[in-house]
Amino acid sequence: MLASLVEELFEIIANVSKASNGKTLALHEPYLESNVLDELSKTVASGFVSSVGEAVTEFETLLSNYTGAEAVILTSSGTAALQLALRVSGVKAGDEVAMPALSFVATANAAKLLGAEPVFVDTEPLSQNSTLGMSAESLEELLTSYFPTEVGPINRATGARLGAVVPVHVFGRLSTSKRLVRLAKDWKIPIVEDAAGAIGCFSEEGMHPGTESPAILSFNGNKTITTGGGGALLLPSNDLAVEARHLATTAKVPHPWRFQHDRVAWNFRMPALNASLGVAQMQSLPRILDAKRRLAARYFDEFLISDNFCLLDTPPGQRSNHWLIAAALKEPSEVLLGELLDSLNARGVGVRSAWSPINLQLPYLSSQRVALNNTTEIVSSVVCLPSSPQLGMNA
Ligand SMILES: *Cc1c(COP(=O)(O)O)cnc(C)c1O
Repeated sequence: MLASLVEELFEIIANVSKASNGKTLALHEPYLESNVLDELSKTVASGFVSSVGEAVTEFETLLSNYTGAEAVILTSSGTAALQLALRVSGVKAGDEVAMPALSFVATANAAKLLGAEPVFVDTEPLSQNSTLGMSAESLEELLTSYFPTEVGPINRATGARLGAVVPVHVFGRLSTSKRLVRLAKDWKIPIVEDAAGAIGCFSEEGMHPGTESPAILSFNGNKTITTGGGGALLLPSNDLAVEARHLATTAKVPHPWRFQHDRVAWNFRMPALNASLGVAQMQSLPRILDAKRRLAARYFDEFLISDNFCLLDTPPGQRSNHWLIAAALKEPSEVLLGELLDSLNARGVGVRSAWSPINLQLPYLSSQRVALNNTTEIVSSVVCLPSSPQLGMNA
């Protein structure tokens, strides 16, 4: 069984990527064009390589125009942006924060580093066009342990307030359902979107993350566009922007020469050197998204005839950035999946599973959670495929 699955998946990936045996194939490589060097040179020549350089403002403006978010604050990482987003949304030490167990560990770390406690929720059931995102039904189940108040839900067992809910857009699939938004509104819970991998994703109504609630992006090297490392906080209105920028800038009171800081705060700003890459990558973004769309279409065709796998198609209505194109085993098996991924990686093919759920990570073993059956099924069946834009460039 294993051998035939390995052969089938290897052949599909080889057909799509035209990779030859023995040549390694990354899961997701950055796509950097020569414009990166032009933008970097400008920044170096200006002398302002750190966070007050012009490239910072330029990249922020480009992101604001592209996404429709009214305010954009660049940060040193997506994780930093998430801490900032939770903080300006009112999350305090002692609060609880609801999030899907199926995410990168940073989602939980951002809450925990603020002194808040993550509470884990299940994802949507696995299906061919599942969002793989937070299940509103599961959030509703969680809320049966809380009672509503003017400042948000209070946990009957712990007495703590649920300070925020963090839907995660998984692998470039938007996951904020209308039911989830309604639930958050009814219960007075701020939404903060972990859109780390979701630049270029648009809802059926044409909305980008960060236009309806605060959202964060990551520009780590494995994401759709990269600044080497970095992130951004996107805000739907300017209301929280001044506070967010202040907290990311050591709470320094603006003054030409006096150093006055009115709060304990972070240095979370993105250096202009990194922002230069961002400016260049925004010019490349349409080409990158186009290539990834073509790549996804080629995978789709190849998987049509498979008895063992199905390709996860874009959820209805939305436009995906196809950050990580994913397939699922038709018969979930964590053991078989592990062996399959081992074999393919040993042959130089960069495939991976969905994240190991955060509730199974050492620091979060005793965190609160509801039933996570869908998460378990997804972790036992989903395979992320090589998704570099390069693979779709000449398709
Ligand atoms: C990449 C990622 C992050 C963290 O971003 P960094 O820039 O690496 O800090 C957070 N959440 C999700 C879902 C991610 O994929």
